[in-house]
Amino acid sequence: MAKTALILVDIQNDFCPGGAMAVPDGDAIVPVANALIPRFELVVAVRDWHPANHGCFAVNHFGYKVGGVVALNGQRQILRPIHCVQNSHGAAFAPDLDVAGIHQIIPHGTDPNIDSYSGFFDSNHIKSTGLGEYLKSEEVMNICVMGLATDFAVKFTALDARQWGFNTLLIEDGCRGINYRPGDVAAALEEMRSAGVQMIDSEEAVPV
Ligand code: ZN
Repeated sequence: MAKTALILVDIQNDFCPGGAMAVPDGDAIVPVANALIPRFELVVAVRDWHPANHGCFAVNHFGYKVGGVVALNGQRQILRPIHCVQNSHGAAFAPDLDVAGIHQIIPHGTDPNIDSYSGFFDSNHIKSTGLGEYLKSEEVMNICVMGLATDFAVKFTALDARQWGFNTLLIEDGCRGINYRPGDVAAALEEMRSAGVQMIDSEEAVPV
């Protein structure tokens, strides 16, 4: 039988209210995750996991501020506040998340010279995080994706999942977005739909 995995994206303190890069209402998805986790035979959590010298942090570029733009490994990089530094409080999973139900944790953003919004690849699509290989080795065919933020890590993770060939479902009520520009979240959802990602509600997210 085709295996279905639940992929939890970046449900970390720094993306929840009070965090360094808070997603509005981000912690509201924790109960949604906790209700879903026991329903899946495989639960994988992706987490943003930067070394302190990461090139996406404005403080690591002399004379630059948060929101500034640099070239990082040939990619346009918008500079961020310090967030999700490995083993810091901000990088920890949201305190109420049912971490005991998580089978595998996959870090992304670990290379200081390149950012990675996706749980599968760096932003240049050169280095894999190991998530795709892991899911294939577990004979996963279908994945349900939820987490933070809809218009960043969730979008890029879902798009890469399609590239890997997974049947990909997005749990819409299990995501929250940032909307730096009005319409960003709507555009992200449309981009995912166009790539073949199916939108579902958490009530419908039972392994198929
Ligand atoms: Zn990051």
